[in-house]
Amino acid sequence: MKVNFETALGSYRIQRFPLRAQQPLQAWDAADELLLNTLVAEYSERLKSTESRVLLVNDQFGALATALRAQRPDCWSDSTMSHAATEFNLHENVDSVDAGKYGFTAISSVSDLNGYYDLVLIKVPKTLALLEQQLTMLSGHITESTLVIAGGMTKHIHNSTVGLFETLVGPTRTSRATKKARLIFSEPKLNDADSPAPHLIESRYQCEPLHAELISYANGFSRERLDIGARAMLQALDKYPIPMGNNIADFGCGNGVLGLYALQKRLSQPAARVASASAAVSISFIDESYMAIAAAQKNFERLHGGLSVESEILQPDSSQQAANDEFDSVAEIDDGAKLEYEAKAEHSGDQYINVAFVAQEGIAAKKHKRYDWILCNPPFHIGNTTDTSVAKRMFQQSFQALQRNGQLWVVANRHLDYPDTIQSLFKNHQIIFSNTKFVVILAVKK
Ligand code: SAM
Repeated sequence: MKVNFETALGSYRIQRFPLRAQQPLQAWDAADELLLNTLVAEYSERLKSTESRVLLVNDQFGALATALRAQRPDCWSDSTMSHAATEFNLHENVDSVDAGKYGFTAISSVSDLNGYYDLVLIKVPKTLALLEQQLTMLSGHITESTLVIAGGMTKHIHNSTVGLFETLVGPTRTSRATKKARLIFSEPKLNDADSPAPHLIESRYQCEPLHAELISYANGFSRERLDIGARAMLQALDKYPIPMGNNIADFGCGNGVLGLYALQKRLSQPAARVASASAAVSISFIDESYMAIAAAQKNFERLHGGLSVESEILQPDSSQQAANDEFDSVAEIDDGAKLEYEAKAEHSGDQYINVAFVAQEGIAAKKHKRYDWILCNPPFHIGNTTDTSVAKRMFQQSFQALQRNGQLWVVANRHLDYPDTIQSLFKNHQIIFSNTKFVVILAVKK
């Protein structure tokens, strides 16, 4: 696959994350090219000063940030993977002698922005709710002289998309399509009324099996109702004996529904009640989306009460990022982008639940913390195409992260070949639940 991103600003080597030997997909699209080429052709004065404040929104693998690296842009995204890819790609395109001149700041989608921007480039996300969330929060950080340009593939730009810019930014026009991409130009019109306090828009549904209402944020998976795959996993949890180890992970947790239900089951077992403090049940909620982790945390607190924080980690800890050590100086992470957060919640009497919320692509195989039980409802799309490579990578990582005799439970569409993939990794598997659409696969690490 092509890795040279040719633009009017220069040519850059940009790769997708996770890195793969045979990557079929490119790490940028025609909208990235159109955004940069239009900037150079029509607004080059905006790029003259390195003092001007630049915000990039939803820059998927850092193609825009790499091209605009001299402006040290703020990169605001819901994806920890996008931030990691931006760091990697910037590194790939900067000589170590020049490293001090360039950089970016990773800002998570759940963090507010600071101050005012001169230039804002937005990649239109597929989810309208995420765009609404971002434009609402952005409105307090632009002035009438801010240049706001959004870019996207025409199939993702609808009247409703343009309508959001009209309502939340100001008068808006669109460009002609070039290579199936289009730009949206929006002139900020400041509202005299006090702008509403920035907040995260919540969706809610009643999750009957949990007997609780769950919330999700704008980019959350299945925000309005319990996903039918997740429901199949909850049914498997009702029917099949659960493992009794203490260390549980909800991998790709979304709003945390699988982990919360598994925890409820685990805590109702007699062994959980007699556990000593040091053998308390631990659960990790892991997702590459900051909004997923924020929702899982909020749902956990709603079900289990307040948390007392044990530790917070802002720096990445994955092998991919470890390879970028020398590059630390050019990637800053804002305080809101907590990558790992460990806490305790009171369970009953002097019993505690240890809980970790980890915003990270993949599950790390840590020597001191291997899991007894990993639950996973993996994604099987990249964009609009079926792609099982992410799920397969999640199974490989789960195998590494499990204890001996630890169990992986996966819910999947029946038509996917996951039982075979899991069999070849674990050398065993069984189907513990099935309905017309889904199977739940259990594999044990021997
Ligand atoms: N567990 C939730 C449920 O059952 O409703 C969400 C399942 S959703 C199908 C898959 C989730 O995996 C999404 O929240 C997505 O952000 C997350 N995800 C995708 N790739 C991931 C990766 N490589 N590492 C961690 N999380 C990932």
